[in-house]
Amino acid sequence: MTIAENLQQIRTTLPETVTLVAVSKTKPVSDLTEAYESGQRIFGENKIQEMADKWEQMPKDIQWHMIGHVQTNKVKFMAPFVSLVHGVDSLKLLQEINKQAAKNNRVINCLLQLHIAEEETKFGLDEQELNDLIASEEFATMQNIQIQGVMGMATFTDNQEQVKKEFTHLKSIFDTLKGKNPVHCNLQTISMGMSGDYKLAIECGSTMVRIGSSIFGGR
Ligand SMILES: *Cc1c(COP(=O)(O)O)cnc(C)c1O
Repeated sequence: MTIAENLQQIRTTLPETVTLVAVSKTKPVSDLTEAYESGQRIFGENKIQEMADKWEQMPKDIQWHMIGHVQTNKVKFMAPFVSLVHGVDSLKLLQEINKQAAKNNRVINCLLQLHIAEEETKFGLDEQELNDLIASEEFATMQNIQIQGVMGMATFTDNQEQVKKEFTHLKSIFDTLKGKNPVHCNLQTISMGMSGDYKLAIECGSTMVRIGSSIFGGR
């Protein structure tokens, strides 16, 4: 199957309320162009330099999502153009995004990454850390970021019950946060689900799926 066929097939399975991020990390611009020509406008990358290189080469109506772990010292390279930063997991990182967004006269949309998996290797905040961040004085002063929702990655396992439990947990954290109606937030996005688990993620309330290998093939 071609990239265009894969995209078309996946789109038919997605409810209208779910946004598809085509995860193009490690793939050449020619692959992204094929996806672009079949109508895809949202691409996800996990390295800032690679995303910036592709941004320079590709059409300017693409929305670039940073889905990987962000190093604070590299935020400046994506601040002029990034559309959504999925992996925000500390106040320090959020402060740097706010600072670089201000320099570019922008408000940058962010998702707070929650640690929902059993594995210790995955990044993210726990619910208490999320609440502390949202309630902090520093957060209250940030004028150039907006929190658009949450992001999480489930444990890499065949155990569907485990994955379902983790996705459901993220959905409930989102609902609780939304109920508090915090400042600098426009809560509408739950980014969860990848090639292997996106259907289950959607059943659990995902509004944004990040799909790579099922579109572009293995890496
Ligand atoms: C690579 C990656 C994906 C896509 O994974 P696939 O299994 O190829 O669909 C999704 N989210 C994050 C954070 C990733 O790093």
